[in-house]
Amino acid sequence: MATKIPVAQTRMFGNVFICRDCNKKIRTQMVRILAGKIRCPRCGRHAFRPVKKK
Ligand SMILES: [Zn+2]
Repeated sequence: MATKIPVAQTRMFGNVFICRDCNKKIRTQMVRILAGKIRCPRCGRHAFRPVKKK
């Protein structure tokens, strides 16, 4: 088994981000967040953080 990648972690948390302003959960890709292409549908801000906390 050469491919032991934490896929489960990515599947659960890797693509989910939370708006810093209104805590709206958004499922998208990290690259899109970094590129500033994602906007919160509720408050319209660009500030997101990964949902992964612990
Ligand atoms: Zn928001």
